[in-house]
Amino acid sequence: MFKIKIAKNAGFCFGVKRAVDLVETTAKKKSGTVCTLGPVIHNPQEVERLAKQGIKILSDPKEIKNGYLILRTHGIPFELREKLEKNKLINVIDATCPFVKRAQNIVKVLSSNEKYKGATIVLVGERVHPEVVALVSYCRGRCIIIENTREAKMFKGSGDLHIVSQTTQNPKSFASIVNVLRERHNLEVHNTICEATINRQKSAEALAKDVDLMIVIGGRNSGNTTRLAQICSAKTRTYHVETVTDLKDKWFKNVESIGLTAGASTPDWIRNEIETMVKKIGLKNQKKI
Ligand code: SF4
Repeated sequence: MFKIKIAKNAGFCFGVKRAVDLVETTAKKKSGTVCTLGPVIHNPQEVERLAKQGIKILSDPKEIKNGYLILRTHGIPFELREKLEKNKLINVIDATCPFVKRAQNIVKVLSSNEKYKGATIVLVGERVHPEVVALVSYCRGRCIIIENTREAKMFKGSGDLHIVSQTTQNPKSFASIVNVLRERHNLEVHNTICEATINRQKSAEALAKDVDLMIVIGGRNSGNTTRLAQICSAKTRTYHVETVTDLKDKWFKNVESIGLTAGASTPDWIRNEIETMVKKIGLKNQKKI
C-alpha cells in the first residue's frame, strides 16, 4: 500500500471561504432571489452545490431584476459594478477578495496619478481570466497584458512601466517576465500575487519533489489549480482531477508515495472524497498482489 501525503497548504483560501460563506448566509437569511454573476468561485462542483440551495448563476447582468446579487471573488469590471450599484432594486453584496481589490486599487491609483502620466500599466496574467478583464477596467491610462516571457520579449512600447500581477500568478514566471522587461525599460514592480497562492505553490512543489505521483484537485477553470498542476508536473508525474470519477486505477500501479494538493477554490468535501477513493484504490491494488 502506498503512502499518501497531503500538501501543507491546500484547498480553500481566505477569499474563497469568505465568498462561499457570504453566498450561503445571504441565501439563508434573506428572502428574495439570490444570484451570482458568473460562478462565484472557480469550482464547478461547489457552484453546483450552491445552486442546489437555490442560488442562481447569471451569465448576463440584465437577467437580474431585483433581489441580491453577489459579486464573485475575482471581481467584475468597474463600469458594470457602478451600474449595478446604482440600481435601487438590486442589493449588491461584494464577495470580491480583498487581495483582488488591492490589485484593482493599485491599477486605478497609479493610472490616474499625474506623476505617472505617460507610463504604461503592464498586467501580468491570463488575458481571458475574469480577474484580469476586471483589472483592465480599473486602468485610466495605457494598459497592456503580458502572459509570458515570449510576449515580454516582443513588447515594443516605450516609457516607464508599472507592473501589476494577477493575484494567482506563479511568482517564478512573474519574476522572469519582470527580468525580461527590466532589460529595456524603467519599471516599478507591484507584486500583487497573494500569500495564499504563494503558500499553496510552495507546498505543492515541496511535496511533488518527495513523491512518485501527484494528484492536484480542483476546477479545470481554476487558474490557481492549473498552475499548481504545472508546478508539480515539473517535479513528478502529475494528474489534475476535478472529482473521483477522473481517477484511473492504472495511475497508481508501482508507486510508493502519492501527494495530494488542492487549489484555493477546491472545497474540503471534494478533497476528502478523492483521498478516500485513492486509499480504496491502494487497498484494491494491494489485494491483487
Ligand atoms: S487565491 Fe488569493 S486572491 Fe484569490 S481569492 Fe484566494 S486569497 Fe483571494
